[in-house]
Amino acid sequence: MKAVVIKEPGNISLQNVEIPEPQPGFVRIKVKAAAICATDLEVLDGNIPANYPLTPGHEWSGVVDAVGSEKDTSWIGKRVIGSSDVVCLTCDACRSGNWRYCKDFEEIGFRRNGAYAEYAIMPAYGLCELPENVSFETGALCEPLGVALGTLEKAEAKFGQTCLIIGAGSIGLCMLAAAKAMGMKDIVVCATTKGRLDIAKKLGASHVIATKETDLMEAMKSIHPYGTDVVVDCTGIEECIQMSLKLARKGGTVALAGYGRGKIMNIRIDDIHINNLRVVGAGNNWNKHKTAVTLMKDGMVNLECCVSERITLEDYAKGLEMARKRPEGFVKAIFVNE
Ligand SMILES: [Zn+2]
Ligand SMILES: [Zn+2]
Repeated sequence: MKAVVIKEPGNISLQNVEIPEPQPGFVRIKVKAAAICATDLEVLDGNIPANYPLTPGHEWSGVVDAVGSEKDTSWIGKRVIGSSDVVCLTCDACRSGNWRYCKDFEEIGFRRNGAYAEYAIMPAYGLCELPENVSFETGALCEPLGVALGTLEKAEAKFGQTCLIIGAGSIGLCMLAAAKAMGMKDIVVCATTKGRLDIAKKLGASHVIATKETDLMEAMKSIHPYGTDVVVDCTGIEECIQMSLKLARKGGTVALAGYGRGKIMNIRIDDIHINNLRVVGAGNNWNKHKTAVTLMKDGMVNLECCVSERITLEDYAKGLEMARKRPEGFVKAIFVNE
């Protein structure tokens, strides 16, 4: 089969490799769609711990093609999405549903081969059926949508609360879709340029702010005069995090959903201390695939407008370059296997 392989940081190519066989507890997916994520670029650049050689790809959908255990036979032929978390299922963390805290946690696409390939091996326990009315392309986006749902849950965001989302990349836009679906109000999305903000408007943002043209701090004074209930930083950029802490209302919440790339940052502790802010770390997905797929099925969330480019595995270099350069209005490039 064809698979995109990172041999070592900086060295990526399309290769012919053997079709993998599922071990007990796992299934083989005929991959139908796999979205390129910014973290895949970090793996390519060697900035995130990974096991090389590696096929990246943790945002995927497909059809179950083979199973490793007889008890999973009923999955064969089903359209699915699913968790990329490989865990023990028996430790205290797993039994409380906190797979990310499992002592044996490994994520497919980082420690194990992922979905930039014709076939991929995924854990049977993480599968969710993909309804016929959700396309494979948008189904693959249940993963970042799940990240957004998990972030808002960690932030204890509530119906009717105000929300400011800093950054309009795929996580920012999924955050908006999730905030909208759960009934938050006066949702503001800001980004440096306008391209992705048009998509934010389509997804139902109440206000969009292009920070190259409009001063965010100034604009927020009239939009949320007493500060914002829940501010979500989706950038991991120092200046944005500093602003988040100033824009949350007294007693409000700041959720950090952007990757900080290991950087040490200057923040004013008094912004948190004096205003009694809750600052929550909200990286990664939290087993929200099922909720994500239900929201799509019921039409509460439609991420069609986030699929910017459909590419084949042969065109991987083009897809990665787009993900890196993020041209105006670009959100996601997605590998599509016929
Ligand atoms: Zn991702
Ligand atoms: Zn465990």
